[in-house]
Amino acid sequence: MRQIPEADRDAIRIAQDPKFPRWLEQVTATGGCSHPVHLSGTTTTVDGATGEILHHYDTGSEPGERLLVRCRNRRATVCPTCSRLHAGDTFHLVRAGLLGGKNVSPTVRHRPRLFVTLTAPSFGPVHRAEELCRPRRDGGTCEHGRPLGCGHIHAPDSPMVGQPLCPDCYNYATHVLWHAHASKLWDRFVIDVRRRLASSVGLVQSHFAQYARLSFARIAEYQKRAAVHVHAVVRLDGPSGPDDDPPAWATSALLIDAVRASARRVMVKTPYSPAVGELALRWGVQVDARPLSIHSDGPEDDAVAAYVAKYVTKGASETGAGTDHRLTAWNEIESAPVSAHTRALMRACWRLGALPEYAPLRLRIWAHTLGYRGHILTKSRAYSTTYAALRAERAHHVGHAHVPDAVTDRHWRYIGSGHSPGAALIAAGIAEDLVASREAAQEAAQLGDGR
Ligand SMILES: [Zn+2]
Ligand SMILES: [Zn+2]
Ligand SMILES: [Zn+2]
Repeated sequence: MRQIPEADRDAIRIAQDPKFPRWLEQVTATGGCSHPVHLSGTTTTVDGATGEILHHYDTGSEPGERLLVRCRNRRATVCPTCSRLHAGDTFHLVRAGLLGGKNVSPTVRHRPRLFVTLTAPSFGPVHRAEELCRPRRDGGTCEHGRPLGCGHIHAPDSPMVGQPLCPDCYNYATHVLWHAHASKLWDRFVIDVRRRLASSVGLVQSHFAQYARLSFARIAEYQKRAAVHVHAVVRLDGPSGPDDDPPAWATSALLIDAVRASARRVMVKTPYSPAVGELALRWGVQVDARPLSIHSDGPEDDAVAAYVAKYVTKGASETGAGTDHRLTAWNEIESAPVSAHTRALMRACWRLGALPEYAPLRLRIWAHTLGYRGHILTKSRAYSTTYAALRAERAHHVGHAHVPDAVTDRHWRYIGSGHSPGAALIAAGIAEDLVASREAAQEAAQLGDGR
């Protein structure tokens, strides 16, 4: 006789519960979140004038006396459902800064706006996916006896691509120290772009904010060589932000010149270390700054927003660099499912993390992201809307009506998270159904457009 798997038995048990329909409603409301948060508590809304109870909700009557809410994790490997939602929010957040909408003025589309890519410098030669990988005629070797050239043709998805020609020649310490300072380097870059714009039109630097405002949204992406590079949307507004026209001198051309010059010039020094010395860290020589057309009515901007949104759902693990979880011991580095190159970067974080001069960089805590400790998406305050505003808008659509003059009293506490094996099966099925019905709706809409 066939053994029924434990998850199936668990799912059958859940489905036989008298409160199963309500439980299903809750799981559907989370979109089939794979790791929901369990909350216990009450919400009471009272009319401020009469004291009449307008609404009372208590998890006491819910299945398991709890309410399930989304985990909101942005990484697809952790929760596919919430990651999709986060990518959607990111798309709207970036798009609103390019085209307006979501309470951002549509005039932003007429402002100088650039799509900028800044790279990490070289830390040593790595294999490339090009016609010929590092061809050399002389057949020379490095001091470790390894060939200085390669000459093979690697497919773009070959595991060789991004791996160093010689791991002993590769500068792992500089690579992770660069990661640890990348956010500071970005801050210096933004400050320098403002300074440069000011001086190019004869303004005192401290007066720049009275004339214009520089806004941005940036994402960090791991390249094949496990070095972070940065994609950013940069926009120039008038002094009060999206609603304000910039002065006549604020052109895309001026902004491009400032971005290129600042990317070449800015530098961060590492704290002095007897073992490593003092390093001067800069951006790589590959800098890309292209204007987003002022007269485009969307597709180009949509593509940029979609591109940025796609990357926020990726953790270090999906790009082959790092892992989703913090490493707590040296032997976890040894057993991590990563390439030899990534492992060497984690080891460098661990070793350098023991040096007192690098204590503020917290390299051991960030060994799983190879020393990089910035957020995946960072934006300036005036760029566009916020994740919180987008979530609030969604909650409003779901029907949490706002009652004027009402007083709401909430008491909530965390009582757990996740799903039992059977509940996980059901939740995954709901998530798939929701994706399928959304795709069917999109298809139907496209067919409708085509007619
Ligand atoms: Zn989730
Ligand atoms: Zn090669
Ligand atoms: Zn070597």
